[in-house]
Amino acid sequence: MEIAIIAHDGKKADMVQFLNKNKEILHKENIKIIATGTTGSKAEAAGIKVKKMLSGPMGGDAQIAARVAVGKCKMVLFFKDPMSSHPHEPDINMLIRICDVHNVPLATNEATAQLLLNAIAE
Ligand code: PGA
Repeated sequence: MEIAIIAHDGKKADMVQFLNKNKEILHKENIKIIATGTTGSKAEAAGIKVKKMLSGPMGGDAQIAARVAVGKCKMVLFFKDPMSSHPHEPDINMLIRICDVHNVPLATNEATAQLLLNAIAE
C-alpha cells in the first residue's frame, strides 16, 4: 500500500516526531512511503525509507495527486500549516480534490493521520 506524506515547513518537526512514533507501522513490508522532496529528506534522516517526489512548490503535490488519480497512492497524510500561505496553493487544493474524487483517505492534520495509520495497523 502506497502512502504519501507531505508536510509544510511549519509542520515538518511535528511530522518527524509522528514518523518516529509510528516507525513500527511504517516499516511494515506492505507499506511504501512516498513524499514531497524536503519532507522525504527529513523522513529519510529519521530512518524511514521513502520514494521522493519533487519538492511541493516545484510540483511534488501534483505528482502525488497524479498517483492518487491512477490508483497507485492509496492514502495521503498531509501535515498542512494553516497559519501560512503557500505559492503552490492551487496544487494543494487540486490534491485535496483528487483525493475526494477518488475516495482516497486524506488526513490534513496529525490527529487524523494517526487515526488513519491506526486503522491500517490492525
Ligand atoms: P516539501 O513540500 O516537502 O518539498 O517541503 C511540501 C509542500 O510544501 O507541499
